[in-house]
Amino acid sequence: MSKKMKTALAAAFLSGTLGFFARMESGTAGSLLMAPVRIQQYAPDFRLEQLSSNVYAFISNNTTHFWEDGNTAVIITKAGVIVIDASTTYLSERHLAEIRRLTSQPVRYIINTHWHRDHVLGDHVYKDAFPAAQIVMQDYTAHMSDQRNPAILANAFKGKQGADLLASLRKAAETGIDDYGKKLTGADLARAKRSYEEFEPVYAAEVRSGAYVSADITFDNRMTIKLGGEEVQLLHFEGHTHGDTVVYLPKEKILMTGDLVIAPVPYGIDDLFEQFVESLNILVAMPVDVIVPGHGEVQFSHDYMKLERDLFVSLMDQAKASVQRHQSLDDFRKSVNLTTFEAKLVNGDPDNQWAWNNYFYGTAVERAWRIAHGEM
Ligand SMILES: [Zn+2]
Repeated sequence: MSKKMKTALAAAFLSGTLGFFARMESGTAGSLLMAPVRIQQYAPDFRLEQLSSNVYAFISNNTTHFWEDGNTAVIITKAGVIVIDASTTYLSERHLAEIRRLTSQPVRYIINTHWHRDHVLGDHVYKDAFPAAQIVMQDYTAHMSDQRNPAILANAFKGKQGADLLASLRKAAETGIDDYGKKLTGADLARAKRSYEEFEPVYAAEVRSGAYVSADITFDNRMTIKLGGEEVQLLHFEGHTHGDTVVYLPKEKILMTGDLVIAPVPYGIDDLFEQFVESLNILVAMPVDVIVPGHGEVQFSHDYMKLERDLFVSLMDQAKASVQRHQSLDDFRKSVNLTTFEAKLVNGDPDNQWAWNNYFYGTAVERAWRIAHGEM
């Protein structure tokens, strides 16, 4: 999005003009779609972007924040609605309200791209509203979701762990002193306040009405849903997890990648870098006009995906070379060099830098070293 467009949207929000729709420049005649058809801003949490006559995406605004939510995509057909990913109860309730404004059709399917809570915890919102809706997950994802998400809901939200986290965030926001007794000032204090403000409503909604629901339909390698004249392909990949699902609309050439693409900075916390590179090599060859990442801005080319792949290739090449040199993990940490990628991805933005440090670099370097040693 251009700076001018962002400013116009921000102005529309600040002046209270919620519901403002902006027609975007759509590039030169005959070229591929280079921007959403229209964007509606729901600051501060998310935007609704229309990607074709019947495909929409809710893009979360907190990819590089302490509390992060996955994106949601929506396919509206004359025989019902397909929703892809449901981040939390809080967000899914608000997404559903917007879907009801777009169509009177019922939600028929909810597809989860992987089992992580920031893509699954809102499933029950759709199931409660449309009991006949079917939740679809890849086999591994369905298994892991059943294994992990009920406990995450019970502990990280409804239990002591969640209450402690909320109390710690509130204390830092209100007193300006973090858990280590460090006094927060300037940007750090602003970040602490934002972290509490963004987590509190999410926490409150899960405690109030969070519920876990299992998949109704599972698949192994691939599955096609045909609904109301729309063909929706579900393809199994690996990389972010062992059960990543990519959703492809061949007619519109729209691809929903789940967390195989996270912009502007990938999360390297659980990544399986070798499978990740193989998956991205396939995805960069797919004909696409629009890519909806698991987190972050909609992409209109393969460029970011290629940058992400090249980062993982470089990291793994360096980790394998480190094995050859019998380096310790500490020595690898000192010698690994990703500065070119860091500069491109961070692009001088403090939130991007925070995400690079906390969501990528801090864990990815050790993971790559362990993968190169055959430990995972
Ligand atoms: Zn995610």
